[in-house]
Amino acid sequence: MSAAASAPESASGGWIVLKFGGTSVSRRHRWDTIGRLAKRRAEETGGRVLVVVSALSGVTNELAAIADGAADAAGRVEALERRHRDFAAELGLDAEAVLGRRLAALRGLLEDPRAAARPLDWQAEVLAQGELLSSTLGVAYLQAQGLDFAWMDARDWLAALPRQPNQSEWSQRLSVTCQAQADDGWRARFAAQPGRMLLTQGFIARHADGGTAILGRGGSDTSAAYFGALLGAVRVEIWTDVPGMFSANPREVPDARLLTRLDYYEAQEIATTGAKVLHPRSIKPCRDSGVPMAILDTERPELPGTSIDGSAEPVPGVKAISRRNGIVLVSMEGIGMWQQVGFLADVFERFRRHGLSVDLIGTAETNVTVSLDPSENLVNTDVLAALSADLAEICRVKVIAPCAAITLVGRGMRSLLHKLSDVWAAFGRERVHMISQSSNDLNLTFVIDEADADGLLPELHAALIDSGAMPVAEAAVFGPRWRELEGRFRPRPVPWWHAPAMRARLRELAAAGTPRYVYHLPTVRERARQLKAVAAVDRRFYAIKANPHPAILRTVVEEGFGLECVSLAELRHVFAVLPELDPGRVLFTPSFAPRQEYAEAFALGVNVTLDNVEALQRWPEIFRGRRVWLRIDLGHGAGHHQKVVTGGKASKFGLSLARVDEFVDAARALGMVITGLHAHMGSGVDDPGHWRLMGDELAGFARRIGTVAILDIGGGLPIAYSDDEEPFDLDAWAASLAEVRAVHPAFDLVVEPGRFLVAECGVLLARATQVVEKDGVRRVGLDAGMNALVRPALYDAWHDIANLDRLDEPADAVFDVVGPICESSDVFGRRRHLPAATAPDDLMLIADAGAYGHAMASTYNLRALPAEDVIDGPAD
Ligand code: ADP
Ligand code: ASP
Ligand code: MG
Repeated sequence: MSAAASAPESASGGWIVLKFGGTSVSRRHRWDTIGRLAKRRAEETGGRVLVVVSALSGVTNELAAIADGAADAAGRVEALERRHRDFAAELGLDAEAVLGRRLAALRGLLEDPRAAARPLDWQAEVLAQGELLSSTLGVAYLQAQGLDFAWMDARDWLAALPRQPNQSEWSQRLSVTCQAQADDGWRARFAAQPGRMLLTQGFIARHADGGTAILGRGGSDTSAAYFGALLGAVRVEIWTDVPGMFSANPREVPDARLLTRLDYYEAQEIATTGAKVLHPRSIKPCRDSGVPMAILDTERPELPGTSIDGSAEPVPGVKAISRRNGIVLVSMEGIGMWQQVGFLADVFERFRRHGLSVDLIGTAETNVTVSLDPSENLVNTDVLAALSADLAEICRVKVIAPCAAITLVGRGMRSLLHKLSDVWAAFGRERVHMISQSSNDLNLTFVIDEADADGLLPELHAALIDSGAMPVAEAAVFGPRWRELEGRFRPRPVPWWHAPAMRARLRELAAAGTPRYVYHLPTVRERARQLKAVAAVDRRFYAIKANPHPAILRTVVEEGFGLECVSLAELRHVFAVLPELDPGRVLFTPSFAPRQEYAEAFALGVNVTLDNVEALQRWPEIFRGRRVWLRIDLGHGAGHHQKVVTGGKASKFGLSLARVDEFVDAARALGMVITGLHAHMGSGVDDPGHWRLMGDELAGFARRIGTVAILDIGGGLPIAYSDDEEPFDLDAWAASLAEVRAVHPAFDLVVEPGRFLVAECGVLLARATQVVEKDGVRRVGLDAGMNALVRPALYDAWHDIANLDRLDEPADAVFDVVGPICESSDVFGRRRHLPAATAPDDLMLIADAGAYGHAMASTYNLRALPAEDVIDGPAD
């Protein structure tokens, strides 16, 4: 019989184990929740409930300090006593009656003759007091509420395994493993316990010598798991202060995503590599006996949490990034030792001698470096000094500490390496002591100095999502982000094309042929007005390269925007569409343009931006006596993709800072006046601090030049292309620009957005041509391809894709959405969720395609350019 089959089949009868952590037992209303949940579970399953509790939060830390021989032990015990008496009062209990005996036992441990030498058995007893106190208080409270609860001593039921070969004294007492299989006698005795619901302690077990043993810090989860396995429980629920296991510690990475379902192996890896939410040893007992686990939030019991079981469908990709602090590296240098028979055996024998288990290993010709994980080892200065002395007999030793181990966890790490370039880049800035890839292909670990790890996780987490290595669109695994659950996420508004009247209109337009772009002018107006409301900005130019459709140009000009062009053809187009337009409202910002374009631009009377000295030297006659804006490269770039970063050494745009003086001198010599300074660092920038910095830098140069009145901070405002992103925080942007304006009041601020104004107004309509299954991948083909919209192929850009004919059906099947072009990159999206009935001739919609859609379209494969239509007026 398989292990899984030995778990009770049905939800009726049997045991369910609920574990509540430190914060879950430290407040009265949480005990009400514990009582309510336990009762509900007993009713739901028709069975019995075992509740396992931790000590009140912070108590084990205090007890650990006492066990470690802290000088003011008596004072600490007194404070602990006060804390528990106060809490008893908060629970409406008679503290002396309920806790008197236990508190006396705690004080007694200080009087104990062993207290002087602090042997491990005494330390274990000290540590056990927190759980004994909290469980005693809790059961008294629950019984006072009329609930059928009985208290039990966990040590009567959990037995530490006898000493394993090589196990240190320390871990055999303070980080024990327990017997996880019960005989019938054990189960029968347990079943005979009084009370429909039982309450016991986590963290503690019986040592083989009859004394107390400890399961290691955070070990209450493992207590619950042992009980779950021993009882063959229906489920083990870990109730804590976060609603599940996340893709990173949510307190460090607010964008961490809830992992809704994991298999035991990935959960194990995430827990082992640092996600404190689950004790690393808690998964194996449940896995071996096929007991499902769940992680839930005591404060928000209605949230679904994380389920961990053996039947979760494996999804490739990075699931989590974790961090362990306090890692100690031992670097051993031995001349020519590699391949010397027995060298490693000699080394590891010394680790064994000191009861130290090694975690990661890196080898080189003359060096072996290993890491020690403090949660599995008693790593203190005494132990390290003794180890170093021993190792010094055979090699040169260096201890590097404290380090942090940062681990990416997920199935198939090896096949993901090509997606990790941004992750490598982030680590490239730090000193990486060691990189290790686990042999089970589930993790990749980087060890760096602990201080360098601060602030790195949010950056790495974002890079993993952006690169597609963490597949957050996989709804079977990834749930909402932490910030969202905290109410700190601004979702995107429902797009205009969802309105039934708009859908009908789009269908009518599509009848005239697809592929076809449709632009919704009210959306352009709305975005233009949002930007106009930003008071710190004096002038706005729309970067027409994003979408030069005449109706869009007219709309933005009506809204008071000027137009920014990057080629002579764009300039001519602008004046063809708007012959009356004042040239002063047009800005020409070309890159590597031929001479003629500058000459005509000056003839047209538009503002001209220049970004190099060579043009002045080569064509002095064009520039003599002109007023120009100067585009400089501030030396750093930003943007949603490497290909849209327009600052920095690798970028072709802008005058190098080192040549600003040279440019100013050359311009003066030609009688030119530099009236504006421009910098544009990239597109899709979502950090408001970026603008403030840029304003300061530009103002500094403007002052040096003396004639500059305008600071043009470019465009780059992002939009949220997926539900996973928040709309650009215009208020934060406005606030940072207001600061720039206040600090540098002498200058007018100019912006030149493109995408922000038009991306969301546009959709690309296409007809499904064929739906084909191949080797398990279902593809829906469209009559539009990368020739119509190149962003996915060029930038790996995400565009939402919908089946407009089946918008109200559930998107319950997975498709790759592809085009008809003969290129393997002709893919609009992979693993997209669409209605299962999606079929040829369905009208499909690619969203947010108003910017850089038609403008970048081509006739590749001699496929015609898509048509364009405009919708004006409100949806009704
Ligand atoms: P308890 O006292 O309930 O056992 P813990 O403090 O041991 O709770 O574990 C919960 C904490 O684990 C969370 O508050 C969170 O800060 C931390 N944590 C670290 N990594 C993760 C992660 N990947 N997902 C969820 N929580 C995490
Ligand atoms: N109270 C113990 C600790 O803090 C065990 C636990 O909370 O899981 O380590
Ligand atoms: Mg815990």
